[in-house]
Amino acid sequence: MAQQHIVIVGGGVIGSAIAYFLAAHPHFDGRVTVLERDPTYTHASSALSASSIRQQFSTPVNIHMSQFGFEFMRDIHQHLAVDDDVPELGLTEHGYLYLATEAGAAVLRDNHLLQKAEQVNVALLEPQALAQKFPWLNVDDLALASLGLSGEGWFDGYGLLMAFRRKARSLGVSYVQADVQGFAHAAGQVRGVSLQDGAMIACDYAVNAAGAWARPLLTDTGFDLPVVGRKRSVFVVSSPAQTPACPLIIDPSGLWLRPEGQYWICGLPPEDDSDDAPLEVDYEQFDTVWEIMAGRVPGFEALRMQRAWAGYYEYNLFDQNAVIGAHPQLANLILANGFSGHGMQHAPAVGRGIAELLVEGAYSSIDLSPLSAQRLLRKRPLLEKNVI
Ligand SMILES: Cc1cc2nc3c(=O)[nH]c(=O)nc-3n(C[C@H](O)[C@H](O)[C@H](O)COP(=O)(O)OP(=O)(O)OC[C@H]3O[C@@H](n4cnc5c(N)ncnc54)[C@H](O)[C@@H]3O)c2cc1C
Repeated sequence: MAQQHIVIVGGGVIGSAIAYFLAAHPHFDGRVTVLERDPTYTHASSALSASSIRQQFSTPVNIHMSQFGFEFMRDIHQHLAVDDDVPELGLTEHGYLYLATEAGAAVLRDNHLLQKAEQVNVALLEPQALAQKFPWLNVDDLALASLGLSGEGWFDGYGLLMAFRRKARSLGVSYVQADVQGFAHAAGQVRGVSLQDGAMIACDYAVNAAGAWARPLLTDTGFDLPVVGRKRSVFVVSSPAQTPACPLIIDPSGLWLRPEGQYWICGLPPEDDSDDAPLEVDYEQFDTVWEIMAGRVPGFEALRMQRAWAGYYEYNLFDQNAVIGAHPQLANLILANGFSGHGMQHAPAVGRGIAELLVEGAYSSIDLSPLSAQRLLRKRPLLEKNVI
């Protein structure tokens, strides 16, 4: 690709991963500009994430992306070091533990078969084995559990964003502070990215990586991307409870919890899941969170909230999966949106895939085409059963 100018809107983990993989691609000799309106990332999901990674998905493409994500982060020093500045993500390898009552056991078994076929290192545990492995866990209402044995865990997500950004800049990518208004287009081609101050930045390709704010940028492009911001509150709690070898637990209620240093962090999808609600912590949720936590781990009866924060899932209302690839009407506008709570772990695979698409003309490692916008036009959802 000779001297093309690629403009990426949004410099969060997705935009920055794309910028890095483009700049690092051996056959890319163009220019990359990232337009980011808030270099402090105050509201960006990438700065407010729980930053965990799992392989226990129910669709192969999501599993493949996480497998690459884990591998990439494990070897991050080889990829993203800048001179002596070697990123340290604190990648902690610990499984996810999905818990199911009788009602959810069949889904867990189906997912298990699919995951095994995709080389996921995962085991099903009956309640007795579960109680033996985690004696601090209440298994009374459970019928089955699925435990990841390797390739899952958590990491410093903000550190990953910063490492992508620093490395991309060292490879010549420009980060410019700018508030984007939309994409200027004519005759089926994007000509440039228009800014709120009236300026226009010409480009050969544009990428929409604007997270929870991606939809309004496409208003006049003929494609309504069904992505909204869905607020998620995260609570940091302390307790005298001991939970040795604690995995990331997904309770049948939807509550998730995992250890974080001397504390635990946890969250629960809100009952009233409204779109684009202000980013304020839903403290009223904590009573329910506490009740479920204490029911699942009796030691959590004595639970104290230390602090809390809220961030947006960039939630795809259609099927809770990412929309990746060309805009249906504008072939040189690339979408990287709607990650619905799993964008942090998938950022390396998305960055690499979009760089392949732009430089080589097609995906050459993981085939991301199941995530293309075409499925929305055809009204054929790619259903992910394991949404947290
Ligand atoms: C509470 C919570 C927990 C999560 N837990 C996990 C997890 O455990 N594992 C996981 O993989 N994922 C998790 N996620 C999801 C993950 O954090 C996101 O999918 C990911 O960070 C999305 O990255 P992004 O770059 O697309 O969006 P963002 O990080 O939001 O970046 C988008 C950027 O675009 C900029 N922008 C927007 N509009 C404009 C504009 N008009 N002009 C210029 N700039 C603009 C914004 O300022 C922002 O910096 C979680 C998210 C939340 C909120």
